[in-house]
Amino acid sequence: MDARMNKVAVVTGGADGIGWATVQRWAQEGYRVALLDLNVDAVQARATELGQPHIGVVCDVASEASVAAAIAAVMSAFGRIDALVNNAGIGDQAGATVAQNVEAFDRVLAVHLRGTFLVSQAVARVMLEATPDAGGARGSIVNLGSIASSIGLPARNAYSAAKAGIVGMTRAMASEWARDGIRVNAVAPGYVRTALVVELERKGALDAKGIAHRTPLARMAEPAEIAEAIIFLGSNRASYITGAVLPVDGGWTAFGAPEAALRPVAEQVCA
Ligand code: NDP
Repeated sequence: MDARMNKVAVVTGGADGIGWATVQRWAQEGYRVALLDLNVDAVQARATELGQPHIGVVCDVASEASVAAAIAAVMSAFGRIDALVNNAGIGDQAGATVAQNVEAFDRVLAVHLRGTFLVSQAVARVMLEATPDAGGARGSIVNLGSIASSIGLPARNAYSAAKAGIVGMTRAMASEWARDGIRVNAVAPGYVRTALVVELERKGALDAKGIAHRTPLARMAEPAEIAEAIIFLGSNRASYITGAVLPVDGGWTAFGAPEAALRPVAEQVCA
C-alpha cells in the first residue's frame, strides 16, 4: 500500500461545495477520507461516488452526541485521524438586523462556532494520543473562516461573529497544541462559485458582476482553489505554519482603495 494511504482526513460538511472539493483533493493526495455531513442520502451518495476505502458518516456538528458518535465511527473504520477540516456551515438569515430572529442567530453560531469547537475537541482527543511522526507531528486542523472574519458584511451578524470567532479559536488552539505536534490554521475564502452561488446568480439574487468588479483578481473562486489551500495547510507541506489565517479571496481583503482604482473587468469575465 502507498505509505500515504495510511493517513486519514476528516472533512465536515464534506458532501457539497468547498467540502466536497476538499474531500476529493485529500483522496487524490492518497489519504483515506471520512466525509461527515447532515443529510444521510447526500452522505451515502458521495461515499459511493468516492468508493473504497473512503467513508461517509452522518453528523450534525452542532450536536455533541452526534460528533462523538461520528468520530467513534471514523476511529472504528480507520483507527487514526491525521487531518481535520472544519468546513460545515450555513448561510445567515436575510434582512435587516432590527428584524432578525434570535433562534436563527443561535443556529448559525451553533453550526459554525460550536461545531468547529466540538469536532476539534473530539479529534484532538484522538490526535493527542497518537504516536508522533519523526518530525514530532501528530496532526493538523484547518478551519473555514471568511472575508467576514475580518471585514464587515452588512446584516451578516451571526455569520460574521462566527467567522471572527473561528479565527480567534484557531489561534487559541494553535497556541495550546503546538508543542503536542498539532497545527491549527484557517483559510479565509472570498466569494466561491459553489452550486448554491451559481443558483443565486441564475435567479439574479447575487451580484456576480459587482463581486467581480470589487475583486482584484476579477472573479469568484472555484471550490477547488479553496481546497488547494486547505490541503496545503492541512498537510506536512505546511509543517512550520500554525495559527495562521490564509486569505484565499482574490485580493478582496488586501484592496482598500475606491473600486475605480482597479482596471475595468472585461464583460465576459463577469458572465
Ligand atoms: P455548502 O452549503 O455548499 O456546503 C456546506 C455543507 O455543510 C452542506 O453539505 C451542508 O449540508 C453541510 N452542513 C450544514 N450544516 C451542517 C451541520 N450542522 N453538520 C454537518 N454538516 C452541515 O457550503 P460552502 O461550500 O459554500 O461553504 C463551506 C464553508 O466555507 C462554510 O463554512 C462557509 O461559511 C465557508 N465559506 C464559503 C464561502 C462561499 O462563498 N461559498 C465563502 C467563505 C467561506 P446541507 O446542504 O444538508 O445543509
